[in-house]
Amino acid sequence: MIELEKIKEQFLSEVNGKKLSRSDWERIHTKYIGRKGLITDATIQLKDLPKEQKPQFGKVLNEVKSFVEEKLGEIKEELLKSEDALQEHFDFTLPERKQFVGHTHPLTQILDEIKSIFYGMGFTVADGPEVELDYYNFEAVNIPKDHPARDMQDTFFFSDNVVLRTHTTPVQARMMEKHKPPIRIICPGRVYRKDTPDATHLPVFNQVEGLVVDENVTFADLKGTIGTFVHRMFGKEIGTRFRPSFFSFTEPSAEVDISCIFCKGKGCRVCKNSGWIEIMGSGMVNPKLYEYAGYEKGRYSGYAFGMGVERIAMLAYDVNDLRLFLENDIRFLRQF
Ligand SMILES: [Zn+2]
Repeated sequence: MIELEKIKEQFLSEVNGKKLSRSDWERIHTKYIGRKGLITDATIQLKDLPKEQKPQFGKVLNEVKSFVEEKLGEIKEELLKSEDALQEHFDFTLPERKQFVGHTHPLTQILDEIKSIFYGMGFTVADGPEVELDYYNFEAVNIPKDHPARDMQDTFFFSDNVVLRTHTTPVQARMMEKHKPPIRIICPGRVYRKDTPDATHLPVFNQVEGLVVDENVTFADLKGTIGTFVHRMFGKEIGTRFRPSFFSFTEPSAEVDISCIFCKGKGCRVCKNSGWIEIMGSGMVNPKLYEYAGYEKGRYSGYAFGMGVERIAMLAYDVNDLRLFLENDIRFLRQF
């Protein structure tokens, strides 16, 4: 009897005022009324009791047993109710919370694409300083001190002899000075000009220039290389056109136009109804540059070209304002 009272007390101390979980409930259920539980045990003991004790013990045992069963039943009901409530608040249709994964800047993507097209044609990348000597930026690429071309380029000067390079052409001059042909390079990089930022001008922008020097290089090689680049960059259906022009470091020189990628040559706002869009400058390397490089006279010929990475990106992505690339507006950048 005393034993049964103890079991009841112990049971109460385990459930009263406790916040029980489902596993707590299972554990307590097993401990008291499971196959080897305390109350089941007491039921077995009943058999061995002297006859006169049996009725009283049996009565108390039944009371304790039904008390425990009833209490466990109540607790289980509460548990089920709170589990239902939890499920109601869990919306299975909610979208998952995505992690934000960044990507390269659209200008970097275009530059990578340009590089990979030229890698495919056997070009390698050459690099040079952005703070450049006046000599390499101007003189060695055939823009002497009194040359009118210097007025065309508004330059940032550190001193009389040191400038922020206004084009990547000095990399070509440095390359030729150090290496004998064959040369087959592209030189991508930042260049600087004193421009006020607007939709089509920035004081800092990226160029990719190319230089090929070898024996028997002709204008046909230049046209083939540029044509292949345009096809890979903009599509097979896009044509190229060479227009006579002037650059001090090439002779003859030509502007390269591509047939308008937006109207396919029919005429639209972007190509100003001409059907053509200018994308780069090019030409045969001016023999004067071979003199600066100290090459054997008359032995080599070559071609060079140069384009603005931002300009190519504007065309490829149909963006009408250069400044958008630099504003770091995530809504803009996420589109690419
Ligand atoms: Zn057009």
